[in-house]
Amino acid sequence: MAYQSVNPYDGKVIKTFPELTDTQLETAIQTAATCFETWRHKSYAERAKVVAKAAELMHTRADEFARHATLEMGKRINEARGEVEFSSNILAYYAKNAEKFLAPVKLHPSVGEAHMESSPIGVIFGVEPWNFPYYQLARVAGPHMMAGNVLMVKHAGCVPQCAIAFEKLWIEAGAPAGLYTNLLISHEQSDQVVDDPRIKGVALTGSVAAGRSIAARAGKNLKVSSMELGGSDAFIVLEDADLEHTLKWAVWGRMYNAGQTCCAAKRFIVVDKVYDKFLEQFQAALTALKPGDPMDEKTTLGPLSTESALIDLLKQVDGAVAKGAKVVMGGKRIKRAGAFMEPTILTDIKPSNPAFRDEFFGPVALFFRVKDEDAAIALANDSDFGLGGSVFTKDIARGKRVASRVDTGMMFINNISWSDAELPFGGIKNSGYGRELGDMGIQEFVNKKLVRVASMSAPV
Ligand code: NAP
Repeated sequence: MAYQSVNPYDGKVIKTFPELTDTQLETAIQTAATCFETWRHKSYAERAKVVAKAAELMHTRADEFARHATLEMGKRINEARGEVEFSSNILAYYAKNAEKFLAPVKLHPSVGEAHMESSPIGVIFGVEPWNFPYYQLARVAGPHMMAGNVLMVKHAGCVPQCAIAFEKLWIEAGAPAGLYTNLLISHEQSDQVVDDPRIKGVALTGSVAAGRSIAARAGKNLKVSSMELGGSDAFIVLEDADLEHTLKWAVWGRMYNAGQTCCAAKRFIVVDKVYDKFLEQFQAALTALKPGDPMDEKTTLGPLSTESALIDLLKQVDGAVAKGAKVVMGGKRIKRAGAFMEPTILTDIKPSNPAFRDEFFGPVALFFRVKDEDAAIALANDSDFGLGGSVFTKDIARGKRVASRVDTGMMFINNISWSDAELPFGGIKNSGYGRELGDMGIQEFVNKKLVRVASMSAPV
């Protein structure tokens, strides 16, 4: 069943949801297209009223939203509440700042006067993943709806209740019919949506495979798109790092959301001088994590999102080991009900091992020993991905130097506080293109129109 809530903590099926028929899909697209014709002419203040109300409702009902996420994809309840609050902040941020971000920009031609203005382009189609079932939606809904566009979203098959709750939020916030539409549709229907001339842009967050498929489809239709794809972020530890501080970020960076974060720390690149000590401390910290019910605030290790995510990850680890990787700890499923994976550390991953280039989407840390800073940078850059990365050193100037030399869309020095409403988020290489959040995030799906005034004579 394509859209199904299954609790990954115990494997119980909670509810299944039918996909839309083609006729229902057609009605939904037409409703969205009709909505655009009025929404595009609303003032920023009128749009902000709806978006700010949605932010407020998310905040006041954070627990209810959070419980859906924990139930459907196993996120620990505290993390789920944090995600809901953050999503609310993102909506509030765009409600407040959109007008400023999209204000006309004066240009200075040699003759006459000119400006750039930003106008909405129409119905935007979002395809979103389950790992942050609200944050990913807020990242597209806040900016694009404030810009005057309307949104249709195909969410991941395993989080239908989150998807439906987010759609209901907009109705409760006073949104007109068609402003935000959740689409329970198949991949084939998703292709039809991308092809539909009423759809003007496509925003995907997900795997490289999905990105290739949907970006190609959008390209064929000459539609603007943004792709937020996977990553295999380097976590560089230099010899002068504060190890106690670094260790806390390392554990959080790998284990937050049970390791299922695009820009999680995935490749630990540690300078020889501190490698043994750091690995030993990291292993001890992972050993201390206790699997349990993600609804229980005391649980420190939740399940993966689905049984199939667990099976895929176990296969990936087995494949890595078959090609020479060594297991320092973990590598197996935890013997209990639910989709629980042992926290895992792998070493001795040679460039010939597929694991060297793959993304491990779960609690699996790859460790690499390097001789110095230059070797760390070279290894960090030897990746098909280019989402984020981090470097830990007491010397901030050195950290900035390293950050400049790593080929990614984001670098963090002595932290990996990945995301803030104000800061653009996105990657390069196979991690995709375009940016979400911040000022840049609202510029992705607007028409940047030049207007020039000059009473000069036409050339003869
Ligand atoms: P996924 O399989 O690509 O799914 C993401 C979304 O794309 C889901 O809604 C999925 O629908 C849909 N989808 C997949 N293939 C499709 C196709 N051919 N046509 C139409 N829709 C399609 O990704 P995932 O494994 O769930 O999510 C994890 C991936 O997302 C990781 O690689 C992670 O790094 C990446 N991610 C990136 C960011 C970022 O900002 N860069 C953020 C979060 C996650 P179904 O569920 O129905 O298949």
